[in-house]
Amino acid sequence: MIKQIQIFLLLFSCGTTAISQDTAAPDLSEEAMAAMHAILEGRVLSTISFLASDEMAGRDTPSPELRIASQYVAARFRGAGLEGAGPGGSFFQIHQLVTTMPPEYGTAISVDGGDAISHRGLLSGGAEAIDLTATVVKESAALEADAAEVVCLDRLHLPPQAAERPQFVLASVARRIRALTDRKTKVVLIPCDDGNILPQVAERLLQKSLFLKDGLTPQCAVLLVPSDSNPVGKKLSIQIEAQREMQNPVRNVVGILRGSDPNLSQEAVLISAHLDHIGVRSHGDDRINNGADDNATGVTAVISLADAFASLKTKPRRSIVFVTFWGEEKGLLGSKHFAENPLWPLSKTVANINIEMVGRPEEDAREKAWMTGWKHSNLGLLMNSGAQRAGVEIFNRTDVGEMLYARSDNYSFVRKGVVAHSFSAGSLHADYHQPSDEWERLDIPHMTKVIRGLFAGALFVAENSVAPESSGN
Ligand SMILES: [Zn+2]
Repeated sequence: MIKQIQIFLLLFSCGTTAISQDTAAPDLSEEAMAAMHAILEGRVLSTISFLASDEMAGRDTPSPELRIASQYVAARFRGAGLEGAGPGGSFFQIHQLVTTMPPEYGTAISVDGGDAISHRGLLSGGAEAIDLTATVVKESAALEADAAEVVCLDRLHLPPQAAERPQFVLASVARRIRALTDRKTKVVLIPCDDGNILPQVAERLLQKSLFLKDGLTPQCAVLLVPSDSNPVGKKLSIQIEAQREMQNPVRNVVGILRGSDPNLSQEAVLISAHLDHIGVRSHGDDRINNGADDNATGVTAVISLADAFASLKTKPRRSIVFVTFWGEEKGLLGSKHFAENPLWPLSKTVANINIEMVGRPEEDAREKAWMTGWKHSNLGLLMNSGAQRAGVEIFNRTDVGEMLYARSDNYSFVRKGVVAHSFSAGSLHADYHQPSDEWERLDIPHMTKVIRGLFAGALFVAENSVAPESSGN
């Protein structure tokens, strides 16, 4: 084999995308064949119908249901015989996610030395408690001045449906007032008449703390006042407590299957999927976004692959690390956390096979899968060669494959220089991110076949003497 590699290196040493190893997978051993055929529709169905059940409430980050789902994955990894990769042999990599909420009490506003003004709620408290007296400056005037402690917005129009989307409202407000907060404004007042949706949003913000991305959250206190209070030009005394912060433990679930080769077992293939989805809506008959295809299917694939690989008497030569992530829907957060704090060295991670939405094929792509970012490495060729042994084709989906390369957890590893791609066997269907993404709508035979294909493909990657290669573009 070494000789063969040298010849290939010679042949390709002048080329730009040298693919140096043989990409033809050998026949499956009898044992591997048996493990693959033990991936059964009934088992796939039992796993997915639990993960996508209404009781899981859409597995929002953070939520008690996501916590239960992560415990379930850990239990399955334990049952498969994987080794916990976390501290003390635990299957969890825990992170404290901070969510925030405006203060519920202690807000007071009055004309200096005079009458109290009734307020209509807070969109945000400040970083610290506020107790000040200042003359209110109009927004347009404040933008020309150096520093105004209290500024009243001229006008803020938001569509009625924004009442259901507090995050969107806060992000809009944050963008609008950024120039003011950069100038050290401490309180922004927003005048609201009766039809304004903002008081509803303020009430909603007191019901559930929210995770807000940096830059999308107001950097000062934002207080709603009745429009007829006409605050501009008045000297007001204002007291507002600080924004409240909550710590929420969120968990990547990580299990290791040690490889059988004394040298290659130092390297690992990372097989992953995101466990979280987008939770529950505030209205409608069916409010639960079950996230069956997105991405209970991917997690079911990871669990099924853990069972299949761990059942092999002769383990693959390389180790395999199985992971499910929190927070993909919030911006690839769980995978970013893992990539920053890897429980297996990234320099020894030969590939990330990330699995996303494998349950709803397009008509002409049943029992096929596709890989995002095809041109960036030879992983697609290797996986296809291996998966053909299960009768599954893995292809380059040219319409969206490149665009989606940066849209899932694989990209957290691409950023760290790891060969990392997502594998899908689905469509961008109308139920995407809707309560109608239910497990009853999945094509279980298709999905089971694709998981077998991913098993045969990943087995080849874990066994092949030469690791997958980035094509350097
Ligand atoms: Zn997804």
